[in-house]
Formats: sequence, structure tokens, C-alpha cells
Amino acid sequence: MSYEGVLEQSAANLRQLLKDGEEVIGYIYPHTPLELILAHGLTPSLLRALPGVPGGFEESLQTFACSYIRNLYSQRTNDQMPSLAGLIFPGNTCDSLQNLFDVWRFRFPDDTIFRLTYPVTRHEKDGSTVKYLTTELQLLSEAIEKSLDRPFVSQYFERAKSLIGQFRKDSQYLYGARLLDPSVLSYTDLCRLARAFLTTPLPVIGSEIYAITSSVKEKMKDMGFAGTVDSILRALKTRDFSNIDNFEPIIRPRIIVTGGMVEPQAIANVITGIRGITDSVLVLDLLSFGFKTAFTPPLVTKGTPFEQMAKSILSSPGEPTQEGLIHRVKYLESLFDALQIDGVMICEQSFCDPDQFEAPSIEKAASKHGIRTVRIPIDPELSDRARMEVRIQSFLESLSKS
Ligand code: SF4
Repeated sequence: MSYEGVLEQSAANLRQLLKDGEEVIGYIYPHTPLELILAHGLTPSLLRALPGVPGGFEESLQTFACSYIRNLYSQRTNDQMPSLAGLIFPGNTCDSLQNLFDVWRFRFPDDTIFRLTYPVTRHEKDGSTVKYLTTELQLLSEAIEKSLDRPFVSQYFERAKSLIGQFRKDSQYLYGARLLDPSVLSYTDLCRLARAFLTTPLPVIGSEIYAITSSVKEKMKDMGFAGTVDSILRALKTRDFSNIDNFEPIIRPRIIVTGGMVEPQAIANVITGIRGITDSVLVLDLLSFGFKTAFTPPLVTKGTPFEQMAKSILSSPGEPTQEGLIHRVKYLESLFDALQIDGVMICEQSFCDPDQFEAPSIEKAASKHGIRTVRIPIDPELSDRARMEVRIQSFLESLSKS
């Protein structure tokens, strides 16, 4: 299915849901707790940047605003957004999102908007970050109940835990299997499935992902790879790559894509658009709406629902918008050799300060391991697509020659 086809399919699912009378809460930041929204009997939907939406200049936004939030804001000003019961913004992330929240509140005072403020750090040992986020989640829940008259229902919460937990388990497995054999499921299909679920997290889409994961598991078993995939998954989750079973790469070169809130589907689309190249070269992404969403740990059973969600969010892979650059770079370095990575594509959302701040450290880490990198600036409209394709193609050619 083409990129446009995937977008249209996700949008059609959402339209159908709204037509059926469901109330939808939009969210922008990848770590928004979907379980909480579902527990209020509402459907969470990840709002994405859309190609074809002119987002170049918007006088209300500050000059530093990135292309991603310009695109989202333009969707709202052009009435291209779905009809939402509410919208959750993150606090304490980046200046662009802060600006978007401030301007949105002012320009669209009739919109119901909420804010979930994340702690600055995630690495405190005294548990204060968990306490802080637990309280924030509780306040968000109260605000949703008050504004939309939808109370938190424990039964809905338990159902949501199981649905979202299964999605994460399945998508984690698919990521692990692709690291061993990237042709077992194309990156494009992996992104399509994740996108469909995050746009409308319905049991029917969860079941489709579950069925595909079961068939991938069978294939891995038949090829004798089941144990190695398990060892890779363990490493990705525990961040300890010292005990991965030895494996011989099936396809080379093996590329990782790094970056923050870059659309995985757009990357897949650009790669597959280059003649003679398939997305099997991409063995892993570390993007917000890809890996970092999939590898958020499922909720545990101990503690209040808010505490469970806080712990899960705080244990998920970190974003460039958060403190912890040293931890992120260490993680990246430890997987370079263990996963036999040949090159890194550093994707930067245009005008995204966090992405641009992180890129030099990624380059330095890769170079320490003798791994080549290429920087790919990208915007939601793929306005510089031809140049991106040439850069990626030359990068891949340089890897095949070395
Ligand atoms: S993290 Fe980057 S891409 Fe995401 S909203 Fe902030 S500036 Fe934009």
C-alpha cells in the first residue's frame, strides 16, 4: 500500500469511528498514556503531520517552531483535523510544543485541551519522579472527567491494559525478528500496522497485528531463529547487549535510523522510492513513533492505575526532548557491535532543536565504532525528497564499497 494509501486508510478508520458516535481525544506526544484515555471510555488518536498540508509559514507561531508543529497547526487552521472531544498537549518537553499549546489555547478557546506535564528527569532513585508523574496523571484524569463528564472506569482500564500491552508485546517481537531477518516483515508494513493502531487503537487492529506476529513467530521457529530473537528482545528491553546469541546477518548493509518525532512511514516511503533499494536495509529505527512507542513497557499490576502508568512511561526509551543524552548514546553504542550495524541514518525534523542537539553526539558515537553516518533533514511535506533520496543512495553505495 502506498504512503498516501496508508494515511487514507488510517483517516478512514478514524472517520468511521467518529461516525459511529465514538468520542476521540487527540494526542501529540508519543508517551501519552493511552490506557488512561481508554479508561475514560474515550478513544485516543495520535495526531500526525500530514504531507500536502502547507505548514511553511504561520504568523501565530514563533520563528523557532519546527516543521512538525507547523504542520499540525496548519491542519487545525485549515479545518483538516478530525472532530475531537479534546486534545492532550505535553508540558516540559520542547519549546515548539510549548509554543503550540500557548497559541492553540489563545486562537481556539472553544477547543477542549489538556496538558500533561512530564518530569524533567527520569533517573532519580528516590522515586520522586514517579510520585510527580502519578499526581500529574491523576490531575489529568480529573480534568477529563470534569470537562467531558466521563469518569475513570476500572473495568475499562483493565481492558485497555490488556489491549495496549498486547500491542506492545507484538510490536516488540516484530522489531526483534526484523533485526535478525529484516525481510520477514517489511519496515513499511511494520510502520503501517503501528500507524493504524495508534490512530484507532481498536481490538480488531490489535488482532490483525497479533495474527501477523504469530505467523512471524512461526517463521522464526521454522528457521531455527526463535532463541536468537528472544535474546535480542531481552537485550533491547534490559539494555544489556552482552548475551545476544551469535548470528550471521542475512542482508547487508544493516542500517539504523535515529531521530525523534520523525514519521517512520515517511522514512519507509522515501527508502522504497529509491530505485534498486528495499526497506530491508533498515533493520531498526529508534524513532519516537516507532521503537520508543513499541518498547514502552506494558503496565505492571502493582500500585494504583496512575502509578502503574507513571512507571511505564518513565521506563520507556528516552526522547531527545528529555534529559539523559548520556544514557541514550550509551544504549546506541552498545547495540552497534552486538547487532552488527553498518550505518546510521540520523533523521532530523526540520527546525527541531532536540534532534539537532542530539545529532553530533550520535555521529561521534558511531565514528568511535567505525560506523558511517548520514544526516537527513526531513519535513512532513517531504519537500526536499529528491535531495534526500540522492543522499541516502550515495550513503548506501559508500557502505557497499567499504
Ligand atoms: S521534539 Fe522536535 S519535532 Fe517534536 S515538537 Fe519538539 S521541535 Fe518539533
